[in-house]
Amino acid sequence: MKEFQLIEQIQRETSIASSSDSDQGVRLGIGDDAAVLELPAGQHLVAATDTLNVGIHFPIDTSPYDIAYKCLAVNLSDLAAMGATPRWALLSLSLPQVDSVWLKSFTAGFKILAQAHGVTLVGGDTTSGPLSVSLTAMGFVGPGKQLTRGGANPGDLLVVSGTIGGAARVLELLQKETSVPNRQLLDRPQPRVRLGQALVGYASACIDVSDGLLADLGHVLKASGCGARLEIEKLPQATVLEGLEDSQKWNYQLSGGDDYELLFTVPRHHKALIASWSQQLGVSLSIIGEIEKDEGARCLRANGTSYHAQYAGFEHFRQKA
Ligand code: ADP
Ligand code: MG
Repeated sequence: MKEFQLIEQIQRETSIASSSDSDQGVRLGIGDDAAVLELPAGQHLVAATDTLNVGIHFPIDTSPYDIAYKCLAVNLSDLAAMGATPRWALLSLSLPQVDSVWLKSFTAGFKILAQAHGVTLVGGDTTSGPLSVSLTAMGFVGPGKQLTRGGANPGDLLVVSGTIGGAARVLELLQKETSVPNRQLLDRPQPRVRLGQALVGYASACIDVSDGLLADLGHVLKASGCGARLEIEKLPQATVLEGLEDSQKWNYQLSGGDDYELLFTVPRHHKALIASWSQQLGVSLSIIGEIEKDEGARCLRANGTSYHAQYAGFEHFRQKA
C-alpha cells in the first residue's frame, strides 16, 4: 500500500455523509498542501492538540478503533472545556507498517465520534515510525465567550460531570488482568461538548479532568487566584470503584486521570441551572464543593474532618506529559 492510497482510504472512510463540506466551512480539505477553512461570521477559532503514544497513553493491546476514538475524544474534551463548538480536525499518524485492515478499524473509531460532533477531517500527515497518533481539533466560540481556568470566585459552586476515578481503576486492573469490565471508561471517554457549550455565559471557570481531579482543580485555583473546599464524599463514583475501601476509592477519584469529565465553577445565583443542564443533556452533574478565598484545596469529610490525599503509588496514572 502506498502513502497516497493510505491517505485516500482515510479520506474515504472518515468522510461524514450527513454534512456537506461547504456547510462545515471547508473551502479546501484533504488533497492540497493545506486546508482552507471558513469560520462562521464573527466567531473566534479555538484549537487544541494532543498526542497519544503506544504504551504511554494507551495500553499496547488497545484496538485501532479505540485509539482513534480516544485521540479524537481527548481533543474534543479540550474544546469542550473552552465552551467551543468543534468543527475540524487534523490527524498526524506515525505507523510502524501500512495495513489497510488496521486502518479500517481506526477510521471507524474516528468516524463514529466525529459524526456525533460534526467534525470534518481536513488534513494531516502520515509517516512511518513507532505507533503514535496526534490530533489537532479546531472549533469556534463567540468573541470573549470562551470558558477559561481563570474566572472562579469565592462562593462559586464547584461542579463535576459524570463519574470520576473509573479510568484510573480500569488502567490499574489492566496491569494484572487482560479482560477488565467497563474497559470503555479508559478507552472511550465521552467528551462533554454539549455541556461545555451550555456553560458559556454561566460558568466562571472550566477545565477538563485529564490528569486527576486534584491536579486539574489546582490549575483552576492557581489561574483564578483562590482556593476550594472539596467534599470528598460528594465525589461521583464510577461503578468500578464499588466495594473498595474509602481511602483507596478516594485515591482513584482525587488522583487518577483520564476521565475527561468537565470540572467547572458556577456563581451561586445560577445554582438552579445545574439540575436543568443535567436533565437536558442527560449527564449527571455533582456539586462537590465551593470556591474559597484562601489559596489551596482542602478536602473535607462529611463529618467535618479534613482528609489528606495520598499521591503515593498513583503517579503512573499521570499519563499526559
Ligand atoms: P505534503 O507533502 O504537502 O505535506 P502530503 O502528501 O503529506 O502533503 O498530504 C497530502 C494531503 O493528504 C494533504 O492534504 C494532507 O493534509 C492529507 N493527509 C496526509 N496524511 C493525512 C492523514 N493521516 N489524515 C488526513 N489527511 C492526511
Ligand atoms: Mg506540500
